[in-house]
This record gives sequence, structure tokens and C-alpha cells, in this order.
Amino acid sequence: MEFILDAVLYLSQPLEAELGSFLSEGAKLLDKGAPKGQGAVLVNWLLEGDMLKLKIKSGTYVRPHDAVYRLRNYLAEKIGREYKTGIRSVKGVRYEISFMLEHEPKEKISIPFVKELNFEGKTCRILLLDLDEVFLRNNYVDRIISLIKEKVDEQAYAGKDEHHEITWSSPKKKHAGKIDPTEEMKKRGWIKHRGRGQWIYGPTATRIIKTMESIVEDKLLKSLGFTEVIIPKAVTWDVWKRSGHAKSIYNEIYYLSPPKSRDPAYWEEVVDLYRITGEIPLDKIKERMDYPIGGVSYAQCPPFWPLFSNKTLSLEQMPVTVFDRSGPSMRYESGGLHGIERVDEFHRIEVIWIGTYEQVKDLHQKIIDQYRLIFNDILDLEWRMAWVTPWFMAQEGLHGLADEKHVVGTVDFESYLPYKGSRKESEWLEFQNASNNGMKYPQGFNVKLSGGQQLYSGCTGIGLERWLASFLAQKGLDPEYWPKAFKKRVGVLPEEFILL
Ligand code: ATP
Ligand code: ZN
Ligand code: MG
Repeated sequence: MEFILDAVLYLSQPLEAELGSFLSEGAKLLDKGAPKGQGAVLVNWLLEGDMLKLKIKSGTYVRPHDAVYRLRNYLAEKIGREYKTGIRSVKGVRYEISFMLEHEPKEKISIPFVKELNFEGKTCRILLLDLDEVFLRNNYVDRIISLIKEKVDEQAYAGKDEHHEITWSSPKKKHAGKIDPTEEMKKRGWIKHRGRGQWIYGPTATRIIKTMESIVEDKLLKSLGFTEVIIPKAVTWDVWKRSGHAKSIYNEIYYLSPPKSRDPAYWEEVVDLYRITGEIPLDKIKERMDYPIGGVSYAQCPPFWPLFSNKTLSLEQMPVTVFDRSGPSMRYESGGLHGIERVDEFHRIEVIWIGTYEQVKDLHQKIIDQYRLIFNDILDLEWRMAWVTPWFMAQEGLHGLADEKHVVGTVDFESYLPYKGSRKESEWLEFQNASNNGMKYPQGFNVKLSGGQQLYSGCTGIGLERWLASFLAQKGLDPEYWPKAFKKRVGVLPEEFILL
């Protein structure tokens, strides 16, 4: 690594003085905290009117953007006392950095703030110009270097498929046929498509979903002692910054913007236009909308964590075991919509557990065992489990990776959809997953555990639309052929509405 910074300290007034001894004293501070002789070096300096120009060079230790402030603080005191002159501001005129990468980049990349970016084998050289104090003081430099490294890593993993290792499969089952559940339900008036990727579920479809919920309640939530909470569905940026989602989800969010003003007069034109034209004046509305405060629930658990952020949980009370089913999640799936299996507005029960390494690992296993019971004994599904790249790595572009020990990471639950083709060749449906999220959330939200052990957490999102699709695709819509244990729970199906 090599860093060369040309910086200017702007003085409060032009100065003619011999600063040599101050600067050579000050330069001694640039070695502090580094192995001997490996700190930053003041290469040269020049005083010109109210500008003190500095050239600072370093390797790995004491980067010049830190070194320049050590000098600034030292000099401010000295020339303040000696010459009654202050230092108004610092500017980075030119910053040249070269560092090594793990992989050779495959493609060009562009990075904000970087004027020039060149690769030579695994060496990257960047040039930054005109840097203000916000840039220098807030360590943008280190983040730029990390971002370049991450983007190059992503290129290396880009071609790789998601890690997908089947760890368990149910026996093959006999299915009711090859029906597409969405089409069949539409025909019978059980569901109706609305808007983009959104459905109205009539009484029958809802009854099936609610029966599935009650099974989850009995066989998983009650039996393992989970309690219900209500998690917000409007998620603000601070949450996604801490959960890590702010690194990537922009193309899939439904954004939430408040009005710029609540004053009816501010909206009068919009109201009048609608009353005259009968059309919603979208451009006029857009002008009156403020910046988004965040978006609609994407993953369900991140907005739970502010309940604990910057606090210490009590070891005696561990594990925390809660669930939420207080509202839908939304994702902009764009072209990827398919029936009820991939929708923009969907419903999940989100189950969250928090505790020590052992507790989280243990609950992950217990939850998987309960699912096994539900899918085998009650729903009688043909399904399988796969150990996959955890969502938090996939989101950072690190496809193809997974914990070899199968502890921290994600189990996907997949069902066979006969209407999609053969077992071997068709794509199975991921109808839910169960993740041990490791230290990800406790670290992101700064939550500690009394007694000093590290805190871990896990979550599982039960995708109710996908449960419904999996079940009906295999069992058909006629209750006569449904597994007994399920049929008993559903009871007599409600009547659908007659539309004349
Ligand atoms: P996919 O690969 O199908 O897009 P995902 O990896 O984006 O799924 P996760 O982020 O892991 O999904 O979300 C967890 C669960 O939420 C999924 O297993 C599924 O049950 C549900 N889910 C996610 N996206 C959708 C969607 N668009 N429609 C319906 N359910 C969804
Ligand atoms: Zn979650
Ligand atoms: Mg997705």
C-alpha cells in the first residue's frame, strides 16, 4: 500500500515565518502508533501566503488523511501562540493511492469520488482530487478502498451459482395432477389479481392460509415457546443502514415518501385538477412529495432490532423467542412476477430467536425439526432442504459461498411443483428459509449480552403465499384429496361469492 497526499492548510492570515523547526517536530508525531519507522512521512512543505502546502506519504500505517490532522493540531497550537495565526481549514488537493487486491479484476469499475482508477494485475491505483474536510475526516478513503475490493470480489463470484447443497429430501409423493395453483384458484374465484403482483384472497384461499398459520402456531410457535410482537412495516433508512440492507436493496424497494406539507392549501391544485379532470395529477403529486424516509418492509426482522439497539440483554433471560405476523412485506419484483408464487406484496410469519451461540444453533435445529413434522405429517408435501449461500452474503455479491460446518447460514425449504416439469429438471419453489444469522444483527445494532459472551440470532420467514402454492400444486383444490390431518383442521370450506 502506498498513499501520497498533497494537502493545503489554509491559515487565518498570510504569514511569513520560518516554520521549519515546528514542522520537523510535528512530523515526529506521524510515527506514533506504527511500528518503528513505518508511520507517515512529511516529504516536503511550502509556506505561500495563507497556504501551507504539505506532501505526506505513508504505507499501511498512519494514513496521510489522518497524519495531516495530527500536523494540523500540532501546528495550530504552535503558530497560534507564536504568530497569532490560526488554521482555518484543510484541503486535500491530490491523493494518490495504490494497494493490492485479492483477485485480478475482470471488468472496469467506476467509483464515486475517484477521478482515475487503474489496475495493473492485482495492483489498483486511484487518484482523488479536491477533497474537503468531510471527505478526509470521515474516512471515505478507507471505505473507497474496501468498496473497490468488494466490487472486484463480486466480479470473481459473479459467474458462480448460489451455493446449493441438498441436505435432506422427503420421499417422492403421488400428486393430484399438474395444476398451476394460481390459474385453478382464479378459475374458481378464490383469488383475484389486483395491481402489480398483488392478489385479493377470498374466503376459501384465506381459510387455507389461516389454517396453515394455526398449524405453525400449534406445532412451532407454542411448542417452542415463542411470543408475538408487532414489528413496524414502514422501515426507515437508519434500520437498513444497520442491518446491512442499505448496501444493496434499492432496486427492489417500494419507497415511502411523506408529503412536503400537510397544509391543505399546498395540495389545493392537486385536488382541483382531480376534481376537474377525473385523473390523478401524478406529476403535481411528485413535486409535493418529500424524499423517501425508507421503504415498506423487505425482510421482516430488521425493524425489530431497534428495540434492543445499544443495550445489553440479560444472559438469564436468553433466548429471546418472538414472532411477527402484523402485515405484508413488499418487493418490487418487476418482470419476475409469477402467479402467487412471486408477488410484490406478500405475507409472512417471521420468527426470530436471539441468544448465545449454542442457543441459536440449537433453536435453529429444533425449528427445522418442527417444520419437518409439519410438512411430513400434516401437509404431506414432497419437499427438500438445501444449505445455501446465506442471504447476507448473497446480498453482498458473495455467491457460491457458505459455511462448511453448516452452522451460521441459511437452509432453504423447497417444494416440488409438478406443473413445472420433472423433478430433476424443473425449478423447485423456495417456500421459506431458516437462517442462523450469526453475529450480523447484534453487531449491526450494537446489542450485547451480559457476562460478555457474543450474541447470535436467527430468523425464519414463513412465506404463506408460497406454502399455499406448494400445497395446492401437489394436492389440488379438492379437499377430498387433501391429507386427513389438514382436512380436519380446515373444516368445511366457506362459500365463495356468486358473481352474476
Ligand atoms: P427468491 O429467490 O425466490 O426471490 P429470496 O431469496 O429473495 O427468494 P428471501 O429474501 O430469502 O427470498 O425471503 C424469505 C422468504 O420470503 C422466501 O422464502 C419466501 O417465502 C418469501 N418471499 C420472498 N420474496 C417473495 C415474493 N416476491 N413473493 C412471495 N414470497 C416471497
Ligand atoms: Zn429475518
Ligand atoms: Mg428475491
